[in-house]
Amino acid sequence: MSKLQIIDLWVKVEDKVILKGVNLEMNTGEMHVIMGPNGTGKSTLASTIMGHYKYQVIQGQILLDGEDVLQMSVDERSRKGLFLAMQYPAEITGVTNSDFIKTAMETRLEENEHISLFKFIKSLETATKELKMNSNLPHRYVNVGFSGGEKKRNEILQMKMLKPKFAVLDEIDSGLDVDALRIVGENVNDMKSDSFGALVITHYERLLDYIKPDFVHVLMGGKIVKSGKNELVEKIDRDGYDWLKLELGMVDEEPIRTVTSLGTCAVNPNNKVK
Ligand code: ADP
Ligand code: MG
Repeated sequence: MSKLQIIDLWVKVEDKVILKGVNLEMNTGEMHVIMGPNGTGKSTLASTIMGHYKYQVIQGQILLDGEDVLQMSVDERSRKGLFLAMQYPAEITGVTNSDFIKTAMETRLEENEHISLFKFIKSLETATKELKMNSNLPHRYVNVGFSGGEKKRNEILQMKMLKPKFAVLDEIDSGLDVDALRIVGENVNDMKSDSFGALVITHYERLLDYIKPDFVHVLMGGKIVKSGKNELVEKIDRDGYDWLKLELGMVDEEPIRTVTSLGTCAVNPNNKVK
């Protein structure tokens, strides 16, 4: 069993402090869900776990089985068993999906080990079928010309092949139709085991028909303000977040106004004008 600990994590992005003391602990064998209004820092948390250079940790720790994740490079984090399915997957021209996955798998091996090409192709075919993906997708350039739904499935394909200890899935459900949602959800849920756990960031209850959460957390104002079980998802789906803001005595932040290139004034819709 493995353990991922996030301890009093403070993160800033371009001089704005986004995360203000996030605490979260998870073990393999557990499915954790993070919900929260737009712009509260869910993707910031995901990117920080994986080590995106733009997200600067100003305080706190991330530990994987007691090891300091924040000292590790991105590829070291991946080799140690962390995986991020991104909200907006990147396109990589010139590298086929299968080469990309195989290379990533090879970096996990000891010097004298190698992956049998036959076994690799078989397991890639199986994973592609389980995700009901078009069989040519593994042989195309990573995400280039893929539809939104295909990109999301492709993230899960990579996850199935790499078999991480902990996967952070950032809005893996956005842009999926109902059938794709079921397929992705079932594939993620099937991975749950003593050696796999996931942190699932989502807005919708629908995905959770397939991925059964053991713990549900709400991220608001840069912190996890409430944790619970499925009933929390149902309540948020029904009532939104205002009741929680009231319960916690949270005040909406000042609206962030930005003058657009057209000279109009855009107000961040997450922040209500007082
Ligand atoms: P969520 O995923 O919960 O919707 P994000 O983590 O994407 O929220 O964003 C939290 C806040 O941080 C937002 O105000 C967003 O504009 C800002 N932010 C996130 N990433 C960046 C970035 N790369 N550059 C500038 N601001 C960012
Ligand atoms: Mg996000």
